[in-house]
Amino acid sequence: MSRQPVLFLGHGSPMNAIEENVYVDGFRKIASQLTKPKAILCISAHWEASGSRVTTALMPRTIHDFGGFPQALFEVQYPAPGSPELAEEISRLVVSTAVSADAEWGLDHGCWSVVKHLYPEADVPVVQLSIDYRKTPAQHLALAKELAVLRDQNVLIIGSGNLVHNLRAITWDRMEPVSEPFDWAAEASEGMKKRILEYDSEGLSTITSLGKAYQLAIPTPEHFLPILYVLGAASKGETMTLFNDSFVGGSLSMTSVSVGL
Ligand code: ZN
Repeated sequence: MSRQPVLFLGHGSPMNAIEENVYVDGFRKIASQLTKPKAILCISAHWEASGSRVTTALMPRTIHDFGGFPQALFEVQYPAPGSPELAEEISRLVVSTAVSADAEWGLDHGCWSVVKHLYPEADVPVVQLSIDYRKTPAQHLALAKELAVLRDQNVLIIGSGNLVHNLRAITWDRMEPVSEPFDWAAEASEGMKKRILEYDSEGLSTITSLGKAYQLAIPTPEHFLPILYVLGAASKGETMTLFNDSFVGGSLSMTSVSVGL
């Protein structure tokens, strides 16, 4: 059996779950190139926890973890099954840290708002792994390297976040797809993409030390950290492709990455 790819999906606004736009087109186009996996492991910006946790629910609930959006968005259900087997396999194969079972968490919007465009029938089981906010970038990378073997077991690993994610700076009247980024956002985006394409996980994980542009692009780590899981699960030399590589609102990059496709 061939190796599953790894994806980083820039999820952006929850409205991408129900809108038709170039980003949704981009997700569907990638989906058309995938071989259906046995299960999906999703590392979403929207599940931060004290410790690394995996979802074990048989039927994870659709979590509407946002406010101020149209009712139609709250009515979206993504009834993909869970996979307690995969959750158990993850707990077994990760040795760098303890991974605990979480029967309460379901699928947050960082996960379902994008996975629904890959598998609209919700017929692929989905497990989420939390982002442990106590871990250093190096520890996240070490964990990601241990997860890489799942790719050979027909599991699709997806990191869901945004490389440049500064909602304070966002220009709300420019939220339609594709807008000019602020200078600092463009600089940080280019710097991150360069390191991603060079498989420079070390350089990427310490990138906020490079100065103001990066600190503005990554004001908090949660939307950035999923890319470390993607790079950590990748092997140097695999085909890497950027897609949805543009901005909305000047300070939110939708840049997404496929590895091994
Ligand atoms: Zn988000």
